[in-house]
Amino acid sequence: MSNPQTEQWQTLSRQHHLAPFTDYQALNRKGARIITKASGVYLWDSEGHKILDGMAGLWCVNVGYGREELVEAAAAQMRELPYYNLFFQTAHPPALELAQEIAQLAPEGLDHVFFTGSGSEANDTVLRMVRHYWATLGQPDKQVVIGRWNGYHGSTIAGASLGGMKGMHAQGGLPIPGIEHIDQPYWYGEGGDMTPEDFGVWAAEQLEKKILDVGEGRVAAFIAEPIQGAGGVIVPPDSYWPKVREILAKYDILFVADEVICGFGRTGEWFGSQYYDLKPDLMPIAKGLTSGYIPMGGVVVHERVVKVLDRGGEFAHGFTYSGHPVAAAVALANIRLLKREGIVTQVKTQTAPYLQQRWRELAEHPLVGEARGVGLVAAIELVKNKETRERYSGLEVGMRCREHCFANGLVMRAVGDTMIIAPPLVINKEEIDELIDKARTCLDLTVREVSGKG
Ligand SMILES: *Cc1c(COP(=O)(O)O)cnc(C)c1O
Repeated sequence: MSNPQTEQWQTLSRQHHLAPFTDYQALNRKGARIITKASGVYLWDSEGHKILDGMAGLWCVNVGYGREELVEAAAAQMRELPYYNLFFQTAHPPALELAQEIAQLAPEGLDHVFFTGSGSEANDTVLRMVRHYWATLGQPDKQVVIGRWNGYHGSTIAGASLGGMKGMHAQGGLPIPGIEHIDQPYWYGEGGDMTPEDFGVWAAEQLEKKILDVGEGRVAAFIAEPIQGAGGVIVPPDSYWPKVREILAKYDILFVADEVICGFGRTGEWFGSQYYDLKPDLMPIAKGLTSGYIPMGGVVVHERVVKVLDRGGEFAHGFTYSGHPVAAAVALANIRLLKREGIVTQVKTQTAPYLQQRWRELAEHPLVGEARGVGLVAAIELVKNKETRERYSGLEVGMRCREHCFANGLVMRAVGDTMIIAPPLVINKEEIDELIDKARTCLDLTVREVSGKG
């Protein structure tokens, strides 16, 4: 180690910090990597290594690091009004202007916003809101929300319950009652001998099956990410969403499109719901809303839901920091920057087609069974046998690949043996070339390590 401070920080981490989603013993053995600064699409660690951030932080730094406009917006708002709440029939300009801005970008009819501090809080809000909606309509039995196995909707009790991560359910007695899960549209991993099209229809039909099993009179809503992010960038087959929409049209239930990752330009549209032509009733948002410069989330709600809520008396729900003025000011600056620089259009017409074309070249690598993606989000599947899709067993190939990436100046995340990226939306073509070159180098290093084993 070249910087003595690195070790001091690692000691602080061992002595005083409990990190999210972390095996503490493993981290303590190794020592945390300390990230100290960032600019554009690059991070620097405390040892001075420059790292291309292929994950935009945690899918959130859409405008890239170091944008003064967002810094200025926060400072100006802190001087003017650093805090006030939205309870007790009060409001403030940043939250109201942001709600209008989001309503203008969202699909037709989604014109109201309930603000939260995070994506998890947004999904807690969703759960209470959809149940309250049906109770107000005189159908209090409609309480069950259907989610998907391997979906991710956050880490609070409601978020983790709506999500379908079995490892999360195993800790803390989840899911809570009234939440059901159906299979995910993960063709490469679970499609077997079916064609992607047939499998997409099959996966959508699981929704209908579940509605009928539970009983339409007991189902409040279906929640899903347009593209599953944390589950491993699961891009559904083309047949999936049209079939789901057909099923949703048949039954009187609400549809929640979790846009926490897909929102704010990730797919080349403002929202994943526009990319797939979904017509959700509610859209949880967070992450790219502020490009991660400050925490904020929300639920965008369709007017047909709002009309019912209007009759429901007090909606007894909210957070101290709902619509926090500084966060709202940063979100406004972020959206205005995305618009002014035409970043979402640039993703759609320039960088997404380029990234997706270059990313698919990785499919020729001996370790890669599939390369897929949409917009600026993509995945590769690491396999032992491309024909049979057999994995390397017990070798943690994904983790090995991730470590090679870090060591070679690239953040690429591992979800099991699926490697995923979601770079800042401002990434340019040279930086995409660098990302692909580094990814290929790391795949070479990984395959050299594991071939002949597992
Ligand atoms: C990250 C994420 C969440 C949770 O957001 P937090 O801000 O971490 O609470 C919810 N839904 C999806 C789809 C996410 O990716």
